[in-house]
Amino acid sequence: MSDYNPSVIEQKWQIKWEEARDFIVKDDFAKPKFYDLVMFPYPSGNLHMGHVRNYAIGDVIARYKTMKGFDVLHPIGWDAFGMPAENAAIKNNTHPEIWTDKCIVRMKEQLKRLGLSYDWTREVNTSKPDYYKWTQWMFILMYERGLAYKKEGAVNWCPKCETVLANEQVKDQKCWRCDSVVEEKKLKQWYFKITEYAERLLNDIEKLKGWPEPVKLMQKNWIGRSEGLEIDFEMYSVQCTVYSRKLKVFTTRPDTIFGVTYMVLAPEHPLVSELSKGTKQEEAVKKYQEKVQHESTHDRTIRASKEGVFTGGYAVNPANGEKIPIWTADYVLMGYGTGAVMAVPDHDERDFAFAKQNNLPIKSEPLDNNWFEEKDFVKKVINYKLRDWLISRQRYWGAPIPIIYCDKCGTVLVPKEDLPVKLPLDVEFTGKGGSPLKNSESFLKTKCPKCGGRATRETDTLDTFNCSSWYYFRYCDSHNDKQPFDIDKVKKWMPVDQYIGGIEHAILHLLYSRFFTKVLFDAGFSNIDEPFSNLLTQGMVVKDGAKMSKSKGNVVDPDYIVEKYGADTARLFILFASPPTRELEWSDAAVEGSYRFLARVYRLVNSVHGTARGKDNGVKKKVHQTIKGVTEDIETFSFNTAIAKLMELTNAFYESKDDVAALDLEQLVMMIAPFAPHLAQELWEKLGHDDFVVRQKWPDFDPKMIIENEMTIPIQINGKLRDTIVVSTGASKEEIESLAGKSEKVQSFISGRQIVKVIYIPGKMVNFVVK
Ligand SMILES: [Zn+2]
Ligand SMILES: [Zn+2]
Repeated sequence: MSDYNPSVIEQKWQIKWEEARDFIVKDDFAKPKFYDLVMFPYPSGNLHMGHVRNYAIGDVIARYKTMKGFDVLHPIGWDAFGMPAENAAIKNNTHPEIWTDKCIVRMKEQLKRLGLSYDWTREVNTSKPDYYKWTQWMFILMYERGLAYKKEGAVNWCPKCETVLANEQVKDQKCWRCDSVVEEKKLKQWYFKITEYAERLLNDIEKLKGWPEPVKLMQKNWIGRSEGLEIDFEMYSVQCTVYSRKLKVFTTRPDTIFGVTYMVLAPEHPLVSELSKGTKQEEAVKKYQEKVQHESTHDRTIRASKEGVFTGGYAVNPANGEKIPIWTADYVLMGYGTGAVMAVPDHDERDFAFAKQNNLPIKSEPLDNNWFEEKDFVKKVINYKLRDWLISRQRYWGAPIPIIYCDKCGTVLVPKEDLPVKLPLDVEFTGKGGSPLKNSESFLKTKCPKCGGRATRETDTLDTFNCSSWYYFRYCDSHNDKQPFDIDKVKKWMPVDQYIGGIEHAILHLLYSRFFTKVLFDAGFSNIDEPFSNLLTQGMVVKDGAKMSKSKGNVVDPDYIVEKYGADTARLFILFASPPTRELEWSDAAVEGSYRFLARVYRLVNSVHGTARGKDNGVKKKVHQTIKGVTEDIETFSFNTAIAKLMELTNAFYESKDDVAALDLEQLVMMIAPFAPHLAQELWEKLGHDDFVVRQKWPDFDPKMIIENEMTIPIQINGKLRDTIVVSTGASKEEIESLAGKSEKVQSFISGRQIVKVIYIPGKMVNFVVK
């Protein structure tokens, strides 16, 4: 008997799987479908343990669902555009494409060594023209539907990445990628009108039954709906001139209006200069506006400044006719609501502090929920925190935005038949000084598609989150060169039944994907309006209490583990060490333990095979209990407890070696297959099969076999013994009577006759009285 040698076994089966094209899934409708998706990797050039965890979870599900009789779509690809490749290329004096392609070759090799059951024929690479052509097509779709526009505004600028960022990419005022403190700049940029979908994105969270609650809550808070009133306040200046214009204020607390003692406008509010003009406040207001104009939105939000200036103007409280001063202060933002607030120091801490500091009155008045009924100067409105998605980037390695500027015709879309707008290869880039595409004459200068005159191309590229917002649609039909995908194929495969990835995408990628899906749905390109039915967010892999990272020096290289123990051990350890949603603490000892378990299974099948008799009911019972338990555990992603049950079963087999039947061993091997597929396949062959274990039907358990403490109950018909049943001692009267009624023998006696009465004497007997 040879020893367990994973390096030989794993290579052998990886080659056979590939030769048999076993994981390639057809688009026929032969079986029910299951779309199992892992978030596709960024090709950094190195697989890390977080990847291994993500893909091991995905692979267990794919193999298990295949054995449960589903057509499983389990694809993989590359989220290949983006800054790291561009930066690495600059550093290594190469081209991002060459760099990226090299990284992909290397990572593909690593993935293949893990024995993951991907359908590689559907592989996508977002940086290739055959893919980004369709990313550009999506931009055109958005533009045509009035959802893409360019505007000047205050944007987040990362000084290190030398590009703008979307609001979703700024966390605690820092860049999501490099952690630099983000600055605010005024720039003209492209946006997608995701705000138009705010209400649907919010309401449809209800539909996401298979999503973790924290992710749903994060999306809810990010969208940030608030209901309130927009109230028109009359205004007049110091000289008592009444303005024809009204001051619009949004409030979620109209009931506090009798306590309003002053108003505050954002310093950028157009009324501030107007109101102060010609008053003795004019100078002070100007000074204040200059002082705060360079402050970032973030600083203004968190600093809780109590500083402000009287504008010289007054408003009239519409509820009680009182005259109240209008101030300006930087804590009020122009971007939210109307850029004006009514201050109620008695009900709001910040207003209170501001009033104290600036000697403004504080009034205690009762709340009134009805004063605004049927008033024509109030309007019910809904406000959202969500802002439009800034999608243009001043970097090279991304899909060019398919827009042309013509002096005569203005902004012109690139016609769909002219796609892709190819990324020019002759560009010098340094990572400094704005869009590198500006330096490519051949790219920049073009003809206007409308008038044929001289025109220039847009030189910004699309945020890479555009590429990943629709890739799961492309997997359904990844080689289509006529359309982004065929709608019938999308109808077969979408939505994704199980999506697996990191919690860091809770807002960014998942929100954008939901938005894209809804736009595709509205445009008639899809029949679903939510992309992901179930979402599993896996926990981090940590070592010595910290996230694995180069700077901390606690990285464990997957290659090293696979080399030393084999891919099956790496996968088994990761699945066994912790439930998938929790943090996983790396342990060398536990890796050893996983290896020893697999070796034990290997020896068991090799030594017992051929000698087994299968006499012991105890072993059989254990097998069936394990099938029940492992099935339930996999369905609820409790992979760690599933593996523990398989370990127990293996121990039980060792204890009664002579009584383990071939079928028992087969069932153990089948259940191990999703976790340690190479070993299971090798043992499946040892047990005399020449097909793939993943193509076997997942074992069923016999409910009669798993009853723990059982009793035998005689069944009588009209007082005569006809059959006996075995039930658990805890079974209820109803269960026992129903089970007795289902007995074949009983049914043959009572067929065609009427049951008058069923008598059950607890623990003793069931008697059917029939006539
Ligand atoms: Zn950055
Ligand atoms: Zn033109």
